[in-house]
Amino acid sequence: MRAAVLHEIGQDKLEVLDDVEAVGFGPGKVRIRIRATGLCHSDLSAMNGVLPQPAPFIPGHEGAGEVVDVGDGVTGLKAGDRVLVCWLPACGACPSCRRGQTHLCLAGFMNAGTPNFKRPGGDVFGFAGTGTFTEEVVVGAGCAVPIPDDVPFEIAALIGCGVTTGLGAAINTAQVEAGSSVAVIGCGGVGISAVQGARVQGAAQIVAVDPVASRREAALRFGATEAVSPDEFADARQRITAGEGFDYVFEVVGKSATARTAYENTRRGGTLCIVGAGALDDHFQVNMFELFFDEKRILPSMYGGGDVLRSYGRAVELWRAGRIDLESMITHRVRLDGINDALDQMRTGTSLRTCVEL
Ligand SMILES: [Zn+2]
Ligand SMILES: [Zn+2]
Repeated sequence: MRAAVLHEIGQDKLEVLDDVEAVGFGPGKVRIRIRATGLCHSDLSAMNGVLPQPAPFIPGHEGAGEVVDVGDGVTGLKAGDRVLVCWLPACGACPSCRRGQTHLCLAGFMNAGTPNFKRPGGDVFGFAGTGTFTEEVVVGAGCAVPIPDDVPFEIAALIGCGVTTGLGAAINTAQVEAGSSVAVIGCGGVGISAVQGARVQGAAQIVAVDPVASRREAALRFGATEAVSPDEFADARQRITAGEGFDYVFEVVGKSATARTAYENTRRGGTLCIVGAGALDDHFQVNMFELFFDEKRILPSMYGGGDVLRSYGRAVELWRAGRIDLESMITHRVRLDGINDALDQMRTGTSLRTCVEL
């Protein structure tokens, strides 16, 4: 079957190959025909080495499709079911799961070092234990989450990571209060979802901060009340908060420099929410005096910071009610030549649909 493969960490171009096979099917496993996949920023971070990932590998961890086959012992799923791919399946039994913090379950990472694919040249890994830039993938049953019939595959794919992560940061983790001021630094798919989450929560001002003009324009369409470049952020803070700083600042880049900017632009007693996935050797610094004296709450948020299945369900409900716009996220595209070309090639002659939400 066809798949888009990254041969070595550090390359920016995927090669589309037709000799890839999904492996590992058996008891407890599900084979899914991928019908839609998104590109999330973490895919790029794995490709460039910021996030640890063995190579060669198939990127993509936002996907949705149809179940083709279920292994022995799998209950609640059958061939033909429409599912989204959850890259962080909950075991249901560990202390994190029992607390309702299924986004902190580590069970899904246990297989991260096991190849999900092979080709005549050898083993091929799937990013985050999934790898959705392919026609078929074999995953644990917990990674195949049924979706309602009225949810298109493309929208389900986005809910599989970016939308859940951004919405959850605003709703579950930061719990943005109605009437508050919010800044979102980094406006790719996750940042735009944080903007939408802040709007759902009733924020009065939502300032989107991004160096890329097209992303600023997109943020305005998704509910930001204004969008500024990093150079203009200090001025926006002065105008909107009388210099005090924002009630909530979301860092959706994953770098210590932007996290520090976010910290400094959070008001005393306000909330800094760290959403971006960063590198092991990139250290965020605060001094002990400011940490104590300014009483800013630093809240990291991983994968929406709450029960994952509940977050999926809420995203579907908000979308159905017209409170969040997911259709426009599908058509919002950013050019990344090495990846877009490969995804376009993936679509040719297959039933796969792709969207890029950076
Ligand atoms: Zn667990
Ligand atoms: Zn993601």
